[in-house]
Amino acid sequence: MSKNKFYISTSIAYVNAGPHVGYAMEILQADALARYNRLEGKDVFYMTGTDEHGLKIAQVAEERGVWPQELANENSALFRDLAEKMGASNDYFVRTTEDKHVEFAKQMWQKLVDAGDIYKSHYEGLYCIGCERYYLEKELVDGNCPIHKKPVVKVKEENYFFRLSKYAEEIKAKIKSGELRVIPESRKNEILNLIEEGVNDVSFSRPRESVKWGIEVPGDDSQLMYVWCDALTNYISVIDREKFWPADIHLIGKDIVRFHAVYWIGMLMSAGFELPKTIMVHGFITSEGEKMSKSLGNVKDPFEYLGKYGRDALRYFLLREIPTLGDGDFSAERFDIIYNEELANTFGNLVSRVVAMNKKYFGGAVPARGADDGFEIKVAETWVAVEKHFADLDLKKAAEEVLALGYAANKYVEDSKPWALAKENPERLAEVIYNLLEMIRQLGLMLLPIIPDTAEKVLKIYQPDFSVNGFEWKGQRDFGLLKEGTLLGESGILFPKLEQPK
Ligand SMILES: [Zn+2]
Repeated sequence: MSKNKFYISTSIAYVNAGPHVGYAMEILQADALARYNRLEGKDVFYMTGTDEHGLKIAQVAEERGVWPQELANENSALFRDLAEKMGASNDYFVRTTEDKHVEFAKQMWQKLVDAGDIYKSHYEGLYCIGCERYYLEKELVDGNCPIHKKPVVKVKEENYFFRLSKYAEEIKAKIKSGELRVIPESRKNEILNLIEEGVNDVSFSRPRESVKWGIEVPGDDSQLMYVWCDALTNYISVIDREKFWPADIHLIGKDIVRFHAVYWIGMLMSAGFELPKTIMVHGFITSEGEKMSKSLGNVKDPFEYLGKYGRDALRYFLLREIPTLGDGDFSAERFDIIYNEELANTFGNLVSRVVAMNKKYFGGAVPARGADDGFEIKVAETWVAVEKHFADLDLKKAAEEVLALGYAANKYVEDSKPWALAKENPERLAEVIYNLLEMIRQLGLMLLPIIPDTAEKVLKIYQPDFSVNGFEWKGQRDFGLLKEGTLLGESGILFPKLEQPK
Protein backbone atom coordinates (compact mmCIF):
# COMPACT_ATOMS: atom_id res chain seq x y z
CA MET A 1 0.00 0.00 0.00
CA SER A 2 1.36 3.34 -1.03
CA LYS A 3 1.21 6.14 1.53
CA ASN A 4 0.63 8.64 -1.18
CA LYS A 5 -2.55 7.07 -2.47
CA PHE A 6 -6.13 8.17 -2.04
CA TYR A 7 -9.05 5.86 -2.71
CA ILE A 8 -12.54 7.32 -2.55
CA SER A 9 -15.81 5.58 -3.37
CA THR A 10 -19.39 6.76 -3.62
CA SER A 11 -22.20 4.42 -2.72
CA ILE A 12 -23.39 2.50 -5.74
CA ALA A 13 -26.74 3.57 -7.12
CA TYR A 14 -29.62 1.14 -7.13
CA VAL A 15 -30.84 0.70 -10.70
CA ASN A 16 -34.55 0.20 -10.07
CA ALA A 17 -34.95 3.80 -11.30
CA GLY A 18 -32.88 6.50 -12.96
CA PRO A 19 -30.61 9.05 -11.27
CA HIS A 20 -31.78 11.88 -9.05
CA VAL A 21 -30.07 14.98 -7.78
CA GLY A 22 -28.94 13.35 -4.52
CA TYR A 23 -26.77 10.92 -6.44
CA ALA A 24 -25.50 13.80 -8.59
CA MET A 25 -24.36 15.56 -5.43
CA GLU A 26 -22.66 12.46 -4.08
CA ILE A 27 -20.75 11.92 -7.34
CA LEU A 28 -19.77 15.55 -7.26
CA GLN A 29 -18.58 15.67 -3.65
CA ALA A 30 -16.44 12.61 -4.28
CA ASP A 31 -15.18 14.16 -7.50
CA ALA A 32 -14.11 17.39 -5.79
CA LEU A 33 -12.20 15.36 -3.19
CA ALA A 34 -10.63 13.14 -5.86
CA ARG A 35 -9.53 16.17 -7.87
CA TYR A 36 -8.22 17.92 -4.77
CA ASN A 37 -6.07 14.93 -3.86
CA ARG A 38 -4.73 14.61 -7.41
CA LEU A 39 -3.70 18.26 -7.28
CA GLU A 40 -1.93 17.47 -4.02
CA GLY A 41 0.11 14.91 -5.95
CA LYS A 42 -1.56 11.75 -4.67
CA ASP A 43 -2.19 8.62 -6.65
CA VAL A 44 -5.99 8.73 -6.69
CA PHE A 45 -8.56 6.07 -7.38
CA TYR A 46 -12.13 7.29 -7.53
CA MET A 47 -14.91 4.81 -8.02
CA THR A 48 -18.65 5.06 -8.46
CA GLY A 49 -21.08 2.62 -10.03
CA THR A 50 -24.38 0.76 -9.85
CA ASP A 51 -25.96 -1.85 -7.58
CA GLU A 52 -27.87 -4.19 -9.86
CA HIS A 53 -29.22 -7.18 -7.94
CA GLY A 54 -32.16 -7.73 -5.62
CA LEU A 55 -35.85 -8.36 -5.49
CA LYS A 56 -36.84 -4.77 -6.16
CA ILE A 57 -35.04 -4.85 -9.51
CA ALA A 58 -36.56 -8.22 -10.37
CA GLN A 59 -40.00 -6.79 -9.61
CA VAL A 60 -39.63 -3.57 -11.58
CA ALA A 61 -38.24 -5.60 -14.51
CA GLU A 62 -41.22 -7.95 -14.32
CA GLU A 63 -43.68 -5.07 -14.29
CA ARG A 64 -42.04 -3.72 -17.41
CA GLY A 65 -41.77 -7.12 -19.04
CA VAL A 66 -37.98 -7.06 -19.44
CA TRP A 67 -35.16 -9.19 -18.05
CA PRO A 68 -33.61 -7.77 -14.87
CA GLN A 69 -30.29 -7.47 -16.71
CA GLU A 70 -31.93 -5.37 -19.41
CA LEU A 71 -33.37 -3.01 -16.81
CA ALA A 72 -30.00 -2.88 -15.08
CA ASN A 73 -28.17 -2.12 -18.34
CA GLU A 74 -30.60 0.62 -19.22
CA ASN A 75 -30.55 2.39 -15.86
CA SER A 76 -26.86 1.82 -15.21
CA ALA A 77 -26.17 3.64 -18.50
CA LEU A 78 -28.17 6.63 -17.22
CA PHE A 79 -26.05 6.84 -14.08
CA ARG A 80 -22.86 6.54 -16.06
CA ASP A 81 -24.10 9.25 -18.41
CA LEU A 82 -24.88 11.52 -15.45
CA ALA A 83 -21.39 10.99 -14.01
CA GLU A 84 -19.85 11.90 -17.38
CA LYS A 85 -22.06 14.94 -17.85
CA MET A 86 -21.20 16.18 -14.34
CA GLY A 87 -17.52 15.99 -15.25
CA ALA A 88 -16.84 13.20 -12.76
CA SER A 89 -13.22 12.09 -12.96
CA ASN A 90 -13.94 8.57 -11.72
CA ASP A 91 -11.30 6.00 -12.59
CA TYR A 92 -13.77 3.17 -12.73
CA PHE A 93 -17.50 2.59 -12.93
CA VAL A 94 -18.29 -0.63 -11.12
CA ARG A 95 -21.35 -2.75 -11.86
CA THR A 96 -22.34 -5.54 -9.49
CA THR A 97 -23.36 -7.71 -12.44
CA GLU A 98 -19.87 -7.66 -13.95
CA ASP A 99 -17.91 -10.92 -13.79
CA LYS A 100 -15.02 -9.56 -11.78
CA HIS A 101 -17.36 -8.40 -9.03
CA VAL A 102 -19.46 -11.56 -9.02
CA GLU A 103 -16.35 -13.72 -8.74
CA PHE A 104 -14.95 -11.73 -5.86
CA ALA A 105 -18.29 -11.58 -4.03
CA LYS A 106 -18.19 -15.40 -3.98
CA GLN A 107 -14.62 -15.38 -2.69
CA MET A 108 -15.61 -12.92 0.00
CA TRP A 109 -18.48 -15.20 1.01
CA GLN A 110 -16.04 -18.09 1.23
CA LYS A 111 -13.79 -16.03 3.51
CA LEU A 112 -16.74 -15.46 5.85
CA VAL A 113 -17.45 -19.21 5.76
CA ASP A 114 -13.79 -20.01 6.48
CA ALA A 115 -13.88 -17.68 9.47
CA GLY A 116 -16.80 -19.71 10.83
CA ASP A 117 -19.13 -16.73 10.51
CA ILE A 118 -21.79 -18.16 8.20
CA TYR A 119 -24.42 -20.55 9.51
CA LYS A 120 -27.82 -21.79 8.41
CA SER A 121 -30.90 -20.93 10.40
CA HIS A 122 -34.61 -20.49 10.20
CA TYR A 123 -35.72 -16.99 9.85
CA GLU A 124 -39.02 -15.32 10.52
CA GLY A 125 -39.13 -11.63 10.01
CA LEU A 126 -40.58 -8.57 8.39
CA TYR A 127 -38.99 -7.41 5.17
CA CYS A 128 -39.39 -4.17 3.23
CA ILE A 129 -38.68 -4.77 -0.43
CA GLY A 130 -38.26 -1.03 -1.01
CA CYS A 131 -35.45 -0.87 1.54
CA GLU A 132 -34.17 -4.41 0.89
CA ARG A 133 -33.89 -4.94 4.62
CA TYR A 134 -35.57 -6.56 7.59
CA TYR A 135 -37.39 -4.59 10.23
CA LEU A 136 -38.30 -5.32 13.82
CA GLU A 137 -41.93 -4.97 14.81
CA LYS A 138 -41.06 -1.96 17.01
CA GLU A 139 -39.39 -0.12 14.12
CA LEU A 140 -42.60 -0.08 12.04
CA VAL A 141 -44.96 2.87 11.95
CA ASP A 142 -48.61 1.74 11.95
CA GLY A 143 -47.41 -1.60 10.66
CA ASN A 144 -45.66 0.03 7.70
CA CYS A 145 -42.04 0.57 6.71
CA PRO A 146 -41.04 3.90 8.31
CA ILE A 147 -39.40 5.05 5.07
CA HIS A 148 -41.74 3.77 2.38
CA LYS A 149 -44.96 3.96 4.44
CA LYS A 150 -45.96 0.69 2.83
CA PRO A 151 -46.69 -2.70 4.38
CA VAL A 152 -43.74 -4.99 4.97
CA VAL A 153 -43.72 -8.64 3.92
CA LYS A 154 -43.71 -11.52 6.41
CA VAL A 155 -40.81 -13.77 5.54
CA LYS A 156 -40.34 -17.30 6.90
CA GLU A 157 -37.38 -19.02 5.36
CA GLU A 158 -34.27 -21.07 5.97
CA ASN A 159 -31.33 -18.76 5.19
CA TYR A 160 -27.64 -18.39 5.81
CA PHE A 161 -26.74 -15.97 8.55
CA PHE A 162 -23.67 -13.83 9.09
CA ARG A 163 -22.37 -13.77 12.65
CA LEU A 164 -22.30 -9.99 12.88
CA SER A 165 -22.93 -9.95 16.64
CA LYS A 166 -19.46 -11.41 17.16
CA TYR A 167 -17.87 -8.19 15.87
CA ALA A 168 -20.14 -5.64 17.55
CA GLU A 169 -17.78 -4.74 20.39
CA GLU A 170 -14.77 -4.45 18.12
CA ILE A 171 -16.69 -2.28 15.64
CA LYS A 172 -17.86 -0.04 18.45
CA ALA A 173 -14.32 0.35 19.79
CA LYS A 174 -12.91 1.27 16.36
CA ILE A 175 -15.60 3.89 15.77
CA LYS A 176 -15.38 5.27 19.27
CA SER A 177 -11.60 5.68 19.13
CA GLY A 178 -11.79 7.30 15.71
CA GLU A 179 -9.60 4.63 14.17
CA LEU A 180 -12.59 4.22 11.90
CA ARG A 181 -13.73 7.78 11.43
CA VAL A 182 -17.46 8.33 10.92
CA ILE A 183 -18.27 11.94 10.13
CA PRO A 184 -20.13 14.12 10.93
CA GLU A 185 -20.08 13.56 14.69
CA SER A 186 -23.89 13.28 14.81
CA ARG A 187 -23.75 10.19 12.56
CA LYS A 188 -20.97 8.71 14.65
CA ASN A 189 -23.08 9.07 17.79
CA GLU A 190 -26.12 7.69 16.04
CA ILE A 191 -24.28 4.57 14.97
CA LEU A 192 -22.69 4.10 18.40
CA ASN A 193 -26.15 4.26 19.95
CA LEU A 194 -27.41 1.75 17.46
CA ILE A 195 -24.63 -0.69 18.34
CA GLU A 196 -25.29 -0.03 22.02
CA GLU A 197 -28.89 -1.19 21.55
CA GLY A 198 -27.59 -4.53 20.37
CA VAL A 199 -26.39 -5.99 17.09
CA ASN A 200 -28.01 -9.18 15.83
CA ASP A 201 -26.70 -11.61 13.30
CA VAL A 202 -27.94 -10.84 9.79
CA SER A 203 -29.74 -13.04 7.33
CA PHE A 204 -27.19 -12.99 4.50
CA SER A 205 -28.97 -15.02 1.85
CA ARG A 206 -32.45 -15.76 0.61
CA PRO A 207 -33.99 -18.61 -1.32
CA ARG A 208 -33.61 -18.20 -5.06
CA GLU A 209 -37.36 -18.50 -5.64
CA SER A 210 -38.11 -15.51 -3.41
CA VAL A 211 -35.34 -13.14 -4.57
CA LYS A 212 -34.99 -14.30 -8.18
CA TRP A 213 -32.07 -12.03 -9.08
CA GLY A 214 -28.71 -12.13 -7.35
CA ILE A 215 -25.38 -13.85 -6.87
CA GLU A 216 -25.51 -17.53 -6.05
CA VAL A 217 -24.22 -18.64 -2.67
CA PRO A 218 -21.08 -20.76 -3.27
CA GLY A 219 -21.96 -24.42 -2.79
CA ASP A 220 -25.71 -23.91 -2.55
CA ASP A 221 -27.47 -22.97 -5.75
CA SER A 222 -30.85 -22.80 -4.00
CA GLN A 223 -29.75 -19.62 -2.24
CA LEU A 224 -28.79 -16.16 -3.47
CA MET A 225 -26.73 -13.63 -1.53
CA TYR A 226 -28.46 -10.87 0.35
CA VAL A 227 -28.18 -7.83 -1.89
CA TRP A 228 -26.24 -5.78 0.68
CA CYS A 229 -23.67 -8.53 1.15
CA ASP A 230 -23.16 -8.49 -2.61
CA ALA A 231 -23.28 -4.70 -3.00
CA LEU A 232 -20.93 -3.74 -0.17
CA THR A 233 -18.26 -5.99 -1.60
CA ASN A 234 -18.05 -3.68 -4.64
CA TYR A 235 -15.66 -1.44 -2.72
CA ILE A 236 -13.01 -4.11 -2.80
CA SER A 237 -13.99 -6.50 -5.61
CA VAL A 238 -12.76 -4.76 -8.73
CA ILE A 239 -9.96 -2.48 -7.51
CA ASP A 240 -6.21 -3.03 -7.35
CA ARG A 241 -6.31 -4.10 -3.71
CA GLU A 242 -2.55 -4.15 -3.23
CA LYS A 243 -2.32 -0.56 -4.28
CA PHE A 244 -5.51 1.09 -3.08
CA TRP A 245 -7.09 -0.86 -0.21
CA PRO A 246 -8.02 0.24 2.46
CA ALA A 247 -10.32 2.96 1.19
CA ASP A 248 -9.58 6.44 2.45
CA ILE A 249 -13.20 7.53 2.16
CA HIS A 250 -16.51 5.77 1.63
CA LEU A 251 -18.89 8.59 0.81
CA ILE A 252 -22.52 7.66 1.50
CA GLY A 253 -25.97 9.05 2.24
CA LYS A 254 -27.35 9.17 5.76
CA ASP A 255 -29.91 6.41 5.15
CA ILE A 256 -27.31 3.67 4.71
CA VAL A 257 -24.88 4.32 7.57
CA ARG A 258 -25.66 1.09 9.43
CA PHE A 259 -24.83 -1.01 6.38
CA HIS A 260 -21.46 0.67 5.97
CA ALA A 261 -20.42 1.33 9.56
CA VAL A 262 -21.64 -2.00 10.94
CA TYR A 263 -22.33 -4.71 8.33
CA TRP A 264 -19.47 -3.85 6.01
CA ILE A 265 -16.99 -3.38 8.82
CA GLY A 266 -18.02 -6.73 10.33
CA MET A 267 -17.56 -8.41 6.94
CA LEU A 268 -14.09 -6.93 6.54
CA MET A 269 -13.09 -8.00 10.05
CA SER A 270 -14.34 -11.51 9.40
CA ALA A 271 -12.58 -11.75 6.03
CA GLY A 272 -9.36 -10.32 7.47
CA PHE A 273 -9.16 -7.12 5.45
CA GLU A 274 -8.03 -3.75 6.70
CA LEU A 275 -10.78 -1.28 7.50
CA PRO A 276 -11.59 1.88 5.54
CA LYS A 277 -10.32 5.05 7.18
CA THR A 278 -13.35 7.29 6.90
CA ILE A 279 -17.06 6.91 6.36
CA MET A 280 -18.25 10.31 5.23
CA VAL A 281 -22.00 10.86 5.44
CA HIS A 282 -23.88 13.52 3.51
CA GLY A 283 -27.48 14.55 4.11
CA PHE A 284 -30.55 14.75 1.93
CA ILE A 285 -31.63 17.48 -0.46
CA THR A 286 -35.09 18.92 -0.23
CA SER A 287 -36.76 20.77 -3.10
CA GLU A 288 -38.13 24.25 -2.39
CA GLY A 289 -38.22 23.34 1.29
CA GLU A 290 -40.13 20.10 0.84
CA LYS A 291 -39.22 16.46 0.58
CA MET A 292 -38.64 15.59 -3.07
CA SER A 293 -41.27 13.22 -4.35
CA LYS A 294 -42.77 12.26 -7.66
CA SER A 295 -46.28 12.74 -6.33
CA LEU A 296 -45.52 16.33 -5.32
CA GLY A 297 -43.98 16.90 -8.75
CA ASN A 298 -41.02 18.74 -7.22
CA VAL A 299 -38.22 16.38 -8.17
CA LYS A 300 -35.12 18.25 -9.35
CA ASP A 301 -33.75 16.65 -12.48
CA PRO A 302 -29.95 16.99 -12.68
CA PHE A 303 -30.03 16.48 -16.46
CA GLU A 304 -32.35 19.46 -16.84
CA TYR A 305 -29.97 21.73 -14.92
CA LEU A 306 -26.95 20.41 -16.79
CA GLY A 307 -28.66 21.19 -20.09
CA LYS A 308 -29.89 24.62 -19.07
CA TYR A 309 -26.94 26.04 -17.10
CA GLY A 310 -23.96 23.82 -17.85
CA ARG A 311 -22.05 21.46 -15.63
CA ASP A 312 -19.98 23.97 -13.69
CA ALA A 313 -23.09 25.90 -12.66
CA LEU A 314 -24.67 22.76 -11.20
CA ARG A 315 -21.38 21.67 -9.61
CA TYR A 316 -20.87 25.06 -8.01
CA PHE A 317 -24.43 25.30 -6.76
CA LEU A 318 -24.49 21.86 -5.16
CA LEU A 319 -21.08 22.23 -3.52
CA ARG A 320 -21.53 25.77 -2.35
CA GLU A 321 -25.21 25.76 -1.37
CA ILE A 322 -25.79 22.35 0.22
CA PRO A 323 -23.99 21.76 3.54
CA THR A 324 -21.49 19.02 2.76
CA LEU A 325 -22.30 16.89 5.78
CA GLY A 326 -25.89 17.94 6.43
CA ASP A 327 -29.25 18.42 4.80
CA GLY A 328 -29.82 21.24 2.35
CA ASP A 329 -32.42 22.73 0.06
CA PHE A 330 -32.44 23.04 -3.70
CA SER A 331 -34.33 26.19 -4.59
CA ALA A 332 -34.66 27.31 -8.20
CA GLU A 333 -34.63 30.93 -7.12
CA ARG A 334 -31.43 30.45 -5.08
CA PHE A 335 -29.89 28.68 -8.05
CA ASP A 336 -30.46 31.72 -10.25
CA ILE A 337 -29.26 34.14 -7.59
CA ILE A 338 -26.05 32.18 -6.99
CA TYR A 339 -25.52 31.78 -10.72
CA ASN A 340 -25.89 35.48 -11.44
CA GLU A 341 -24.28 36.97 -8.35
CA GLU A 342 -21.43 34.59 -7.75
CA LEU A 343 -20.63 32.84 -11.00
CA ALA A 344 -21.55 35.53 -13.55
CA ASN A 345 -20.59 38.59 -11.46
CA THR A 346 -18.06 37.74 -8.80
CA PHE A 347 -15.99 35.31 -10.89
CA GLY A 348 -17.00 35.73 -14.55
CA ASN A 349 -17.27 39.49 -14.72
CA LEU A 350 -14.12 40.00 -12.65
CA VAL A 351 -12.11 37.90 -15.08
CA SER A 352 -13.41 39.50 -18.27
CA ARG A 353 -13.14 42.99 -16.82
CA VAL A 354 -9.56 42.66 -15.62
CA VAL A 355 -8.38 40.88 -18.77
CA ALA A 356 -10.03 43.63 -20.86
CA MET A 357 -8.40 46.41 -18.81
CA ASN A 358 -5.02 44.74 -19.12
CA LYS A 359 -5.51 44.59 -22.86
CA LYS A 360 -6.56 48.21 -23.04
CA TYR A 361 -3.84 49.64 -20.81
CA PHE A 362 -0.93 47.23 -21.34
CA GLY A 363 -1.65 45.62 -24.70
CA GLY A 364 -2.41 42.30 -22.98
CA ALA A 365 1.07 41.93 -21.45
CA VAL A 366 1.55 41.43 -17.69
CA PRO A 367 2.59 44.81 -16.22
CA ALA A 368 5.43 45.31 -13.75
CA ARG A 369 4.93 44.05 -10.22
CA GLY A 370 4.82 46.66 -7.45
CA ALA A 371 3.32 46.78 -3.98
CA ASP A 372 1.08 43.76 -3.35
CA ASP A 373 -1.37 45.73 -1.16
CA GLY A 374 -1.52 42.86 1.32
CA PHE A 375 -2.78 40.31 -1.17
CA GLU A 376 0.21 38.04 -0.96
CA ILE A 377 -0.69 37.29 2.65
CA LYS A 378 -4.41 37.18 1.92
CA VAL A 379 -3.93 34.60 -0.83
CA ALA A 380 -1.63 32.49 1.36
CA GLU A 381 -4.20 32.58 4.16
CA THR A 382 -6.95 31.56 1.78
CA TRP A 383 -4.90 28.56 0.67
CA VAL A 384 -4.41 27.50 4.29
CA ALA A 385 -8.14 27.80 4.92
CA VAL A 386 -9.07 25.92 1.73
CA GLU A 387 -6.70 23.10 2.67
CA LYS A 388 -8.13 22.91 6.16
CA HIS A 389 -11.70 22.69 4.87
CA PHE A 390 -10.78 19.99 2.38
CA ALA A 391 -9.04 18.06 5.16
CA ASP A 392 -12.20 18.45 7.27
CA LEU A 393 -14.21 17.32 4.24
CA ASP A 394 -16.22 20.52 4.34
CA LEU A 395 -16.49 21.38 0.66
CA LYS A 396 -19.06 24.12 1.19
CA LYS A 397 -16.68 26.04 3.41
CA ALA A 398 -13.84 25.53 0.93
CA ALA A 399 -16.01 26.99 -1.86
CA GLU A 400 -17.04 29.90 0.37
CA GLU A 401 -13.39 30.64 1.12
CA VAL A 402 -12.63 30.93 -2.60
CA LEU A 403 -15.71 33.10 -3.06
CA ALA A 404 -14.48 35.43 -0.32
CA LEU A 405 -11.24 35.94 -2.23
CA GLY A 406 -13.34 36.69 -5.31
CA TYR A 407 -15.25 39.32 -3.33
CA ALA A 408 -11.96 40.84 -2.15
CA ALA A 409 -10.68 41.08 -5.72
CA ASN A 410 -13.90 42.80 -6.85
CA LYS A 411 -13.75 45.24 -3.96
CA TYR A 412 -10.14 46.00 -4.88
CA VAL A 413 -11.26 46.97 -8.40
CA GLU A 414 -13.94 49.28 -7.01
CA ASP A 415 -11.63 50.85 -4.41
CA SER A 416 -8.57 51.34 -6.61
CA LYS A 417 -10.47 52.53 -9.74
CA PRO A 418 -8.01 51.49 -12.46
CA TRP A 419 -9.88 53.61 -15.05
CA ALA A 420 -9.05 56.74 -13.02
CA LEU A 421 -5.47 55.60 -12.38
CA ALA A 422 -5.02 55.22 -16.15
CA LYS A 423 -5.19 58.99 -16.41
CA GLU A 424 -3.47 59.96 -13.16
CA ASN A 425 -0.96 57.35 -12.09
CA PRO A 426 0.26 54.74 -14.62
CA GLU A 427 2.75 53.24 -12.17
CA ARG A 428 0.03 52.60 -9.61
CA LEU A 429 -2.19 51.27 -12.41
CA ALA A 430 0.45 48.66 -13.26
CA GLU A 431 0.65 47.58 -9.63
CA VAL A 432 -3.12 47.22 -9.31
CA ILE A 433 -3.57 45.31 -12.57
CA TYR A 434 -0.68 43.00 -11.69
CA ASN A 435 -2.29 42.19 -8.35
CA LEU A 436 -5.65 41.54 -9.96
CA LEU A 437 -4.17 39.28 -12.60
CA GLU A 438 -2.34 37.33 -9.93
CA MET A 439 -5.48 37.00 -7.81
CA ILE A 440 -7.46 35.71 -10.77
CA ARG A 441 -4.73 33.15 -11.44
CA GLN A 442 -4.96 32.03 -7.82
CA LEU A 443 -8.76 31.84 -8.04
CA GLY A 444 -8.36 29.65 -11.12
CA LEU A 445 -6.09 27.29 -9.19
CA MET A 446 -8.41 27.17 -6.19
CA LEU A 447 -11.45 26.46 -8.34
CA LEU A 448 -9.87 23.44 -10.06
CA PRO A 449 -11.51 20.80 -7.82
CA ILE A 450 -14.84 22.63 -7.73
CA ILE A 451 -15.54 23.89 -11.25
CA PRO A 452 -12.75 22.35 -13.33
CA ASP A 453 -13.88 23.50 -16.79
CA THR A 454 -14.06 27.13 -15.73
CA ALA A 455 -10.80 26.91 -13.79
CA GLU A 456 -9.11 25.47 -16.85
CA LYS A 457 -10.42 28.33 -19.01
CA VAL A 458 -9.05 30.84 -16.50
CA LEU A 459 -5.64 29.18 -16.31
CA LYS A 460 -5.45 29.01 -20.10
CA ILE A 461 -5.43 32.82 -20.14
CA TYR A 462 -2.00 32.58 -18.51
CA GLN A 463 -0.78 29.43 -20.15
CA PRO A 464 -2.47 28.51 -23.44
CA ASP A 465 -1.44 24.85 -23.22
CA PHE A 466 -2.64 24.46 -19.63
CA SER A 467 -4.24 21.10 -18.94
CA VAL A 468 -5.39 19.67 -15.67
CA ASN A 469 -4.19 16.18 -16.58
CA GLY A 470 -1.21 15.42 -14.41
CA PHE A 471 -1.15 18.97 -13.08
CA GLU A 472 -0.12 19.52 -9.45
CA TRP A 473 -0.50 22.62 -7.35
CA LYS A 474 3.01 22.44 -5.96
CA GLY A 475 5.13 25.40 -6.92
CA GLN A 476 2.18 27.23 -8.52
CA ARG A 477 0.63 28.77 -5.47
CA ASP A 478 3.03 31.56 -4.60
CA PHE A 479 1.78 35.06 -5.17
CA GLY A 480 3.91 37.01 -7.62
CA LEU A 481 4.89 34.24 -10.00
CA LEU A 482 3.48 36.10 -13.00
CA LYS A 483 6.33 37.39 -15.16
CA GLU A 484 6.28 40.92 -16.45
CA GLY A 485 5.77 41.09 -20.17
CA THR A 486 4.01 37.70 -20.52
CA LEU A 487 1.35 38.07 -23.15
CA LEU A 488 -2.02 36.89 -21.87
CA GLY A 489 -4.86 35.24 -23.78
CA GLU A 490 -8.53 36.16 -23.99
CA SER A 491 -10.99 35.20 -21.28
CA GLY A 492 -14.25 34.89 -23.19
CA ILE A 493 -17.48 34.94 -21.21
CA LEU A 494 -17.29 32.36 -18.44
CA PHE A 495 -20.91 32.52 -17.30
CA PRO A 496 -23.37 34.39 -19.53
CA LYS A 497 -25.67 36.34 -17.27
CA LEU A 498 -29.24 35.06 -17.12
CA GLU A 499 -31.47 37.50 -18.96
CA GLN A 500 -34.27 37.09 -16.51
CA PRO A 501 -34.58 34.72 -13.61
CA LYS A 502 -36.01 31.48 -14.98
ZN1 LIG B 1 -38.87 0.56 3.13
